[in-house]
Amino acid sequence: MMADTLYLVVPCYNEQEVLSETARRLLDSLAGLLKMELISRDSRVLFVDDGSRDDTWNIIERLADGHPQVMGVKLSRNRGHQNALMAGLMTAKEFADVTISLDADMQDDISVLPAFMKKYYDGAEIVFGVRKSRESDTVFKRSSAQFFYKLLKTFGVEAVYNHADYRLMSRRALNGLSEFGEVNLFLRGIVMQIGYKTSTVEYDRGERLAGESKYPFSKMLGFAFDGITSFSIKPIRMITALGIIIFLVSIAVLIYSLVVNAMGNTVSGWTSTVISVWILGGLQLFAIGIVGEYVGKVYMETKKRPKYIIEKIVK
Ligand code: UDP
Ligand code: MG
Repeated sequence: MMADTLYLVVPCYNEQEVLSETARRLLDSLAGLLKMELISRDSRVLFVDDGSRDDTWNIIERLADGHPQVMGVKLSRNRGHQNALMAGLMTAKEFADVTISLDADMQDDISVLPAFMKKYYDGAEIVFGVRKSRESDTVFKRSSAQFFYKLLKTFGVEAVYNHADYRLMSRRALNGLSEFGEVNLFLRGIVMQIGYKTSTVEYDRGERLAGESKYPFSKMLGFAFDGITSFSIKPIRMITALGIIIFLVSIAVLIYSLVVNAMGNTVSGWTSTVISVWILGGLQLFAIGIVGEYVGKVYMETKKRPKYIIEKIVK
């Protein structure tokens, strides 16, 4: 049997510190996989430069020059990790039978790449890399990540626990992915909607080789919020429920005030007035804000703006 062609898809944003070492390790890995006859000779590493401001693209060009197995895609500007990944996957889809996406900083343990491929040959169209432990993370990152998955679950967003974007996808799965037209990309939610046979591979996530994280807490919060509002309308439902509860309470309060009034002992009522004005005002702003988020999403989706623009490809 002829082995299939694998493309490793690696989004890079300002990764000049790690890129050469990453390329060396990935090329080693490809050679190993080739030896094990798990991949074909046409397999490649595909780096996507997500509009980096440092030397990243020059390094990619040099790598592509020196190694026939390296391909590079340059986006016209920074579009964020998810869009860069999508650009890489959609480019790879034209050449590859199967792709594995991973980070440029080598936090995703590449020793499990053969395990991914075996699951693929066993018939899985999507294989999720799942982290065994989060020991290498700071306490803060660990707890915020846990909070993130809890949040997703609470709001009814399907996602594989402790799976980020270290993931194998067959061409079939990628064709499925390409059918999703949404501009707001939350890939780990979308891939759950594709279907097909899936599987998981466990791995240990290490430390970043060098450089610093491109995902500060503020970005992570935004990402979580985006994930929820892209896949769930539960927040709006909760507002509706809250509205109903407040309405019921207000009826009770109404009856109470009428009774008190009829009994003739009307109090001055400053405290209750002030409190209800603030609470209701706050709740209303909050509710409008959430509904606004969805309206904003609809707005962005109707524009159908491109998720990314490819400036250059080097092979
Ligand atoms: N990344 C990207 N575009 C961005 C931010 C990040 O392509 O705007 C890439 C980055 O180069 C890396 C991956 O996304 O390959 C994950 O980023 P990072 O390692 O900084 O996140 P962390 O592991 O700290 O969550
Ligand atoms: Mg990282």
